[in-house]
Amino acid sequence: MPEPSIYEKSMPGFANQYIPASPVEQPLESLIPADLMAATPPALPRVSEREVVKHYTRLSQQNFSIDTGFYPLGSCTMKYNPKVNDWAAFLPGLAQIHPYQPDETVQGALALMYELSSALCQITGMKQASLQPAAGAHGELTGILMVRAYHEATGQAEKRRVVLVPDSAHGTNPATATMVGYQVKEVRSNAQGLVDLEHLETLLDDSIAALMLTNPNTVGLFEENILEIAQKVHDAGGLLYYDGANLNAIAGIARPGDMGFDVVHLNLHKTFSTPHGGGGPGCGPVVANDKLAPFLPKPRVAKTGASGMDRYYLDYDCPQSIGRVKGFYGNFGVMVRAYTYIVTLGRDGIRQSSQDAILNANYLRHLLKDHYRASHNDRPCMHEFVVSALKQKKAGSSAYGIAKRLLDYGFHSPTIYWPGIVPEAVMIEPTETETPETLRQFAQALIAIDREIEQDPEFVNHAPNNLTVGRVDEAKAARQPQLTWPQ
Ligand SMILES: *Cc1c(COP(=O)(O)O)cnc(C)c1O
Repeated sequence: MPEPSIYEKSMPGFANQYIPASPVEQPLESLIPADLMAATPPALPRVSEREVVKHYTRLSQQNFSIDTGFYPLGSCTMKYNPKVNDWAAFLPGLAQIHPYQPDETVQGALALMYELSSALCQITGMKQASLQPAAGAHGELTGILMVRAYHEATGQAEKRRVVLVPDSAHGTNPATATMVGYQVKEVRSNAQGLVDLEHLETLLDDSIAALMLTNPNTVGLFEENILEIAQKVHDAGGLLYYDGANLNAIAGIARPGDMGFDVVHLNLHKTFSTPHGGGGPGCGPVVANDKLAPFLPKPRVAKTGASGMDRYYLDYDCPQSIGRVKGFYGNFGVMVRAYTYIVTLGRDGIRQSSQDAILNANYLRHLLKDHYRASHNDRPCMHEFVVSALKQKKAGSSAYGIAKRLLDYGFHSPTIYWPGIVPEAVMIEPTETETPETLRQFAQALIAIDREIEQDPEFVNHAPNNLTVGRVDEAKAARQPQLTWPQ
């Protein structure tokens, strides 16, 4: 049974006078122009405060959240975020500063941004950072604008019109390159799920501006030939862009800078501890090597003064910068969380969390291997893995059915039907924050669903069977959402 709306709970005669009388002596009517005055009062539900609290608390409990359950959404890194990071972000000295305050009065905030930038450079093996971009896709746009600025500065922008993107790439990669005005060419994956080097070679010439890559790639495999790929792209005069949205497998272990990448974006709201999934705010910093650093957005947080007498300031003197990409300096609260996260974990802790993420993914992959087919031969994965539900499709259900039935078992669905190179893809990212017990329970649920499909696929095809809301028209819900109660 769907929860009745707060309007259906309305009872005539119930008080709803929670808005205190105006302390202004002058009647409100005389302050508001007549043509802006509503003729009738709003049709608010007549419910007691008690009913309102019950209603919304119950609704919030029907929501699935990372705090209430396992959320193995591949390529999204839905991990538990320690509450201490939220505590730091809410410290009044950080939360209540105003972006127009003079530099001298916000030295702590500037120092935090400076130190965070430096930590992200160390983690990625890069030289300079900008914390401005508000999301991963925004970071990509920034990075590819920097690529374009570089080719303009070296007089090659006219001929370098192509950005290469693997067929397994996240959809934002080709979208980003297209937005910056590049032609996108797809690089095929080989049978192992890695970049097809021979195909890459046929695409490399002086029309190439950049190759966008993520490593580990979206099927959760490490591009072993990355040094050779980087060499070939650089030899052709192109640049290497690293999509670092999901750094959970390599942070503290391997650095994009050492692999040959020139510019990287990170998702602080995936890897570095800002809860996400609700649409923001996020933070997608861009880090660059010496070659591309001059083109980073401005202003940049800089430091002067003898040691112990540091003074931080915003540096606008960056003549080759692509300019500002975000109002003020980006989403500061996300930066505080990331900084707290990095400082509390330290170098060893960050490496440990990556190792645990890889261990968890491989353990889960192992538990499932007799029931769900691996996307590409059974190689060890990094922080996530993809299985193909073709067997379950033949038995009359689908990746979609499995995802919906998992909800009945109390688990959030994995990512499905992506990456597109895997038929009936189910992409599972357990993250480092789950216990072996949770992983075993999840595997048991998936194995039980496999059995259900063999016995009665229609039952699975009608799932979820136990939840308040069944199957919804997802396209309609996204395109024509009804956000108010129809009266
Ligand atoms: C999530 C993700 C992005 C985009 O990040 P947003 O913050 O959602 O814009 C880009 N690339 C990869 C590989 C991702 O997983």
